[in-house]
Amino acid sequence: MKFECQQSGKCCVSRGGYGFVYLTLADRKRMAKHLGLTLSVFQKEYCGKTDGFFHLKEEATRTQCTFLKGAGCSIYEARPTQCRTWPFWPENMSPKAWSLEVATFCPGVGKGPGVDAKRIQRDLDAQIDAESKY
Ligand code: SF4
Repeated sequence: MKFECQQSGKCCVSRGGYGFVYLTLADRKRMAKHLGLTLSVFQKEYCGKTDGFFHLKEEATRTQCTFLKGAGCSIYEARPTQCRTWPFWPENMSPKAWSLEVATFCPGVGKGPGVDAKRIQRDLDAQIDAESKY
């Protein structure tokens, strides 16, 4: 699989569908610390909870992530697991999902050298682990 991030910021912008950025407790603590906030203040300011799952707050008037500045993530070092592991999510690994749902909007697909299988597996494992902790 070829993928190399092109810094487009497109994965941080809603495509109109279901697009929550889910957050584990570890994600929330890391982001709160990065922003110099307590966990409870961070959660109040930046998080929503749907069906019992924490995610970054979404506003009807805004289609992009609140942390996206220009084409870059303003909290890059502390970004959520879901953002770190993109595009190697379990649901993206079928050829159909990869070519239809990922490649059609992510300009990084098909760029660069082939991605090392170990890196793909590491990201998949991290994403599966995060999904068990949302
Ligand atoms: S937290 Fe950063 S990487 Fe994740 S969606 Fe928002 S801007 Fe993008």
